[in-house]
Amino acid sequence: MSGLSRLGAQTADLLQELIRNAAVNDGTPDSGQEIRQVRTIQRFLEGSGLEGVVVEPHPGRASLIVRLEGTDPRAPSLALVGHTDVVPVEPAGWERDPFGGEIVDGVLWGRGAIDMLNLTAAYAVVLRDLAVSGFRPRGDIVFAAVADEENGSRVGVGWLTEHRLDLIDADYVLTESGGAPAGGLPHIGVMVGEKGGAGRRLRITGRPGHGSAPWGARNAAVIAGEALTRLARHRTPTVITPQWRAYANALDLDADTTAALTDPDRFFDALPATGRLAGFAHASTHTTVSPNVVVAGSKSNVIPGEASVLLDIRVLPGVSAADVEGHLREALGDLLEHIEIEGDWFGESTLSPTDTPLFGALRDAVRRAYPHAELLPMLGVGGTDGRFYRKRGIPAYGFGVLSEDWDYGRFRTLFHGNDERIDLRSLDLTTTALAQVVRTFHDPDGAATRRKGTETT
Ligand SMILES: [Zn+2]
Repeated sequence: MSGLSRLGAQTADLLQELIRNAAVNDGTPDSGQEIRQVRTIQRFLEGSGLEGVVVEPHPGRASLIVRLEGTDPRAPSLALVGHTDVVPVEPAGWERDPFGGEIVDGVLWGRGAIDMLNLTAAYAVVLRDLAVSGFRPRGDIVFAAVADEENGSRVGVGWLTEHRLDLIDADYVLTESGGAPAGGLPHIGVMVGEKGGAGRRLRITGRPGHGSAPWGARNAAVIAGEALTRLARHRTPTVITPQWRAYANALDLDADTTAALTDPDRFFDALPATGRLAGFAHASTHTTVSPNVVVAGSKSNVIPGEASVLLDIRVLPGVSAADVEGHLREALGDLLEHIEIEGDWFGESTLSPTDTPLFGALRDAVRRAYPHAELLPMLGVGGTDGRFYRKRGIPAYGFGVLSEDWDYGRFRTLFHGNDERIDLRSLDLTTTALAQVVRTFHDPDGAATRRKGTETT
């Protein structure tokens, strides 16, 4: 590939293969079949001397973990955690084959190109290069190519954390979804944390009857409809986190708009000015409730006596399960007479500190590409495997380096969207930066010291 570094070209090749394997995780237990990704990566690592361990908690749902041992058992270890599954596509909305891995005019197309087979491929390339060149890091470097991130990591990092922590444990972690310039350079986003989540089900009870006489009926579908409207209208408090304040300042907006975006009382006035980032801006400053599955009725002439609504709830730092319950009760009001709120699953928001040697190494690597770059610590509004580590006090960052063609709005549009793709220059920048990070972080004279404790901010 002309203009690409040797390692960047390897990442592009491997990424094509990973896309073509179409490891689509649709949430059913047998989907994904990430074993195919494991085989591809094993073939890629052949001859490097790297041996991995494969775990397969469910048939076909395999993960590969490779450890390059360090020379100093007291030195901090670093894990590169890349998921190998991808979300489904709606082919009709694509300009090109979502699983073709085509390269057209310097752009590589396909599901997973930015989420996150690009990074998983780059991790493999960087690790292989270290092994082949005989580099011995001070601390261990772990590469985990993991299944099932797109459905809660139940047979991926979640399973590994519970059953084989020895394989994936590390003092520091890099994973997905950083690297897009925010607004524009010099700010490069690094995900230092993410919102937490809660799933709840509304169980709605009405009274069944004949569809021919709806007057006065207690139709569970109608009650559900009213509940959805109330939830959609209900506003949770606007919270300006330090990460949102920094992000809003990094957007190139006029001073008054920026001030409004960081003022809870004026936030909604300025929200439209953020354009295609509006959804992200709103989610960054609010605990959100999205009713995503609605079920009611079974026959067109029967008034349904039961309905259920599944809620996807994402919480900001500091929000508790009791707060979630409070929001729902406030929104639903007198409808609660017909509604049971079920479920108690709750995962807190997680956040890593930025005063770590790894964060410093990321900054140095980004500045090789963009000398005046500033890292912008961001709070992700979705979930990644980083949370499993942050929960245990281990710093985990979403890191990459994308080209000047990108901004975070574009990144978010393509993430899980139609026409997902990445330019080869971004693959090159990311691979080069990761190669530098693992070498400088583990250089005998490098910045790395023992893990700085388990502080989280
Ligand atoms: Zn992902």
